[in-house]
Amino acid sequence: MRKAIFLDRDGTLNDDPGYLSRPEQMALLPGVGEGLRALVQGGFILVVVSNQSGVGRGLIPQGALTQIHQRLQDLLVPYGVVIEHFELCIHRPEAECACRKPKPKLILDAAQNLGIQLSASYMVGDKLSDIEAGQAAGCKGSLLVRTGEGRRTEKSWDRLQMPQFIGDSLVETAAWILGQEEFLSG
Ligand SMILES: [Mg+2]
Ligand SMILES: [Zn+2]
Repeated sequence: MRKAIFLDRDGTLNDDPGYLSRPEQMALLPGVGEGLRALVQGGFILVVVSNQSGVGRGLIPQGALTQIHQRLQDLLVPYGVVIEHFELCIHRPEAECACRKPKPKLILDAAQNLGIQLSASYMVGDKLSDIEAGQAAGCKGSLLVRTGEGRRTEKSWDRLQMPQFIGDSLVETAAWILGQEEFLSG
């Protein structure tokens, strides 16, 4: 079994212009390359779990998503990092599909298909729906980053179960995860 970091995309890995639809709009947030590199060195595989309702709404051509994700991989090459898999919900919220976060299905499906042990894996995102999906999937930790919508999410938190950690950036969040691992392994 492998261990993974499940990553929200927009607002967590990249700037979120709203319905990002062209590869040239894809830009990494500060610290993302360094954070992902540290996590991969720590033995985690990287899986993006993302709601892309812009496809279902007709705002993002489905073929563009492939190009956008290739652009993301290209931006990560200098860090020696590859996203192992993209698990996406392309449905509109009104469709009430089974996969849109906060439902855990994107995470559960990826875990099943890639042989990932959820109890050894973490979810990282900038919205409540990311944290809820990680918690519902049974991840070891669900962590918030103060990028994208993260600060707003933190201020408006109204749930009992808090994220285990809130980091200013992905690199800070990665350091916390790796510190946990070190602590647990003694
Ligand atoms: Mg997001
Ligand atoms: Zn869906």
